[in-house]
Amino acid sequence: MPATILDGKVIAAKVKNQVKLQTAELRAKGIFPGLAVVIVGSNAASRVYVNSKKKDCFEVGIRSEEYALPETATQAELLELINNLNSKKEISGILVQLPLPKHIVEKTIISAINPEKDVDAFHPINVGRIMIGDYDFLPCTPAGIIAMLDDANIEIAGKECVVIGRSNIVGKPMAMLLLHRHGTVTICHSRTQNIKEITLRADILVAAVGKACFVTADMVKDGAVVIDVGMNRLPDGRLAGDVDYEPVAAKAAFITPVPGGVGPMTRAILLQNTLKAAKLQNRN
Ligand code: NAP
Repeated sequence: MPATILDGKVIAAKVKNQVKLQTAELRAKGIFPGLAVVIVGSNAASRVYVNSKKKDCFEVGIRSEEYALPETATQAELLELINNLNSKKEISGILVQLPLPKHIVEKTIISAINPEKDVDAFHPINVGRIMIGDYDFLPCTPAGIIAMLDDANIEIAGKECVVIGRSNIVGKPMAMLLLHRHGTVTICHSRTQNIKEITLRADILVAAVGKACFVTADMVKDGAVVIDVGMNRLPDGRLAGDVDYEPVAAKAAFITPVPGGVGPMTRAILLQNTLKAAKLQNRN
């Protein structure tokens, strides 16, 4: 039987609906959630992401403010902007679109964001809080994946979970969230030996590699849940995930498509985090 498709657009619409309702409730109390989206330079992909995020905010009633700095902006100028946004009451969440130009040190910028406004959950304080399981924000992509698994009533506890990729924004937090949910977690990366032996054990396989068709059908156990985080631009301009979709879908029990899988969930969780930030900042 072909895999059931985990439709990110449908699940994200449910999340967005909830955010919209709760945002309306806050607005009725005089609290107006607002997201600052900071973009530096003219990376075409970043521009697309920023536009989508602003559109998403509009749809659910969250105000968004864009701050676009030129490629030549200095680190000091960006830090000054972050400091201003940290103290701006109307701004609940700050998102700095990555990657930043090479002359700017990403970790310095991320560390400058007020952790209570860090809706990406990349600040070291938030990363540490996730590690100990006592957090306000979860990073958008891993949290979106957990929400998809929950929506489909896919049990994580006791399952063999394999995450391919160990980046700070996807692989590592993904592994941690699966662990919090009592999965038995293995992380694979570019130095992993015999990766196929490991992925074949996976009940839940998450691919966050950034290489089109990296996960082939011979790497996947029959009946596995396959989550494809990859967003790879093919030479002909099409978007492809990390999973060789058709043959893997023929073996898996559940699979996420690209596009229309993890991507929309990432965007929906950003809205959820912005709403939460507004609530946190107005908790008294
Ligand atoms: P990244 O920082 O480049 O990390 C890629 C990871 O893959 C690294 O840990 C790397 O291992 C590992 N890797 C590379 N080649 C490998 C191989 N041959 N075997 C095993 N592991 C290998 O990328 P990322 O930021 O995590 O993103 C991963 C993908 O997800 C990208 O396509 C990105 O565009 C996409 N993405 C999608 C969303 C979404 O919302 N859908 C969000 C974020 C990212 P090493 O650590 O050893 O180098």
